[in-house]
Amino acid sequence: MDPFADTLQRLREAFDSGCTRPAEFRAAQLKGLSRFLQENKQLLQEALAQDLHKATQLDSAFIRKEPFGLVLVIAPWNYPLNLSLEPLVGALAAGNCVVLKPSEVSKSTEKVLAKVLPRYLDQSCFAVVLGGPQETGQLLEHKFDYIFFTGSPRVGKIVMAAAAKHLTPVTLELGGKNPCYVDDNCDPQTVANRVAFFRYFNSGQTCVAPDYILCSPEMQARLLPALQSAITRFYGEDPQSSPDLGRIISEKNFQRLRGLLSCGHVAIGGQTDESDRYIAPTVLVGVQETEPVMQEEIFGPILPIMNVRSLDEAIEFIRRREKPLALYAFSNSSQVVKRVLAQTSSGGFCGNDGFMHMTVASLPFGGVGASGMGSYHGKFSFDTFSHHRACLLRRPGLEKVYALRYPPHTPRNLRVLLAAMETRSCSCALL
Ligand code: NAD
Repeated sequence: MDPFADTLQRLREAFDSGCTRPAEFRAAQLKGLSRFLQENKQLLQEALAQDLHKATQLDSAFIRKEPFGLVLVIAPWNYPLNLSLEPLVGALAAGNCVVLKPSEVSKSTEKVLAKVLPRYLDQSCFAVVLGGPQETGQLLEHKFDYIFFTGSPRVGKIVMAAAAKHLTPVTLELGGKNPCYVDDNCDPQTVANRVAFFRYFNSGQTCVAPDYILCSPEMQARLLPALQSAITRFYGEDPQSSPDLGRIISEKNFQRLRGLLSCGHVAIGGQTDESDRYIAPTVLVGVQETEPVMQEEIFGPILPIMNVRSLDEAIEFIRRREKPLALYAFSNSSQVVKRVLAQTSSGGFCGNDGFMHMTVASLPFGGVGASGMGSYHGKFSFDTFSHHRACLLRRPGLEKVYALRYPPHTPRNLRVLLAAMETRSCSCALL
């Protein structure tokens, strides 16, 4: 018998019901907490005295943002320059020393980063190290003060386990399957243009790309010709000869993606050329949730469409899967977009477009749950790579005032102490 199961289930069900979201609810809970303290002052004082024999001190405080120390940045291959340099900017700006481990898969960028970049930085504080899984494993045995990892959830777990041995804090920027809900109430061509652009950008090898569409069978019938039209306009009749369509990074990924083409039915595209690692911009229909294309992150130019009968069913579908890095909702109704936003969770969200939210420097970028932890970009990068040190400075004098807190706790001293605690909303508390 698990003594915690019922409680945990009850709380999870309450959270899922959405009852903790409204501001009124949260304010009411905080007021309740405040009342608990006020109405049970005596009881709590007695309990604290029995347990700890102590009173609490308060004072003014400030946060000092300090560099962690030696930071390890591990990058993936799909945007090998950006995803190495963007974290590096934050880590250096905050004052850390950095070891950068670029992806060994994007060999040419790895070479430039290793050979050229150190010339531009103080090499006593910065190093690029090279290697694949084995070498990175070895690197991770060392103690770092912070690890910033961008890559797959599988390797993210390896990194986090290694970091745990040294209690090293981590940011994990991971991937996953990003749902894209398309409501019946929208213009199919506009949606098709936007979804196709963001799905086939970098040949689909983008962590925030829309991974699959959720829509009604009726909307699917309207979207298919619109998607075909968008693909032809973007990449021509023969996308293989388009200078604007990328190639699959490796033979291994090419084979994996070719395997996914057998899921459901190919409605658009589906052509492949192994010698060129080319996969045509593809749309799959009639896909089952249990098929591999709906089980793993696609990370290629393949877009499955899953049918749902209603918005409720789409939300339920999204909620029962891992929390994605990004979530997209298309509708002419702002109510629909807001409902998807309110009733789901994801690292980021964009209504009526692709991953534009990621390009806004004033927004944090990062995952939640299985899509990662922590965030960066802009000022958030600086904060991520800084330890927020809680500080208190006290003058050496005024000892007579501070002496009130020392035992023996006479009734008079306690009265003054309690009064000081109650005026703590002023920035400089007495004790
Ligand atoms: P990956 O996890 O295979 O590799 C990432 C890094 O980890 C590389 O530097 C690699 O050398 C290293 N690595 C690989 N195996 C390792 C192991 N066993 N032990 C230690 N280190 C190891 O990821 P990838 O294939 O380079 O990139 C694709 C993944 O990254 C996708 O899942 C994608 O969604 C994700 N991604 C996420 C973001 C984001 O910002 N959230 C951005 C880009 C890519």
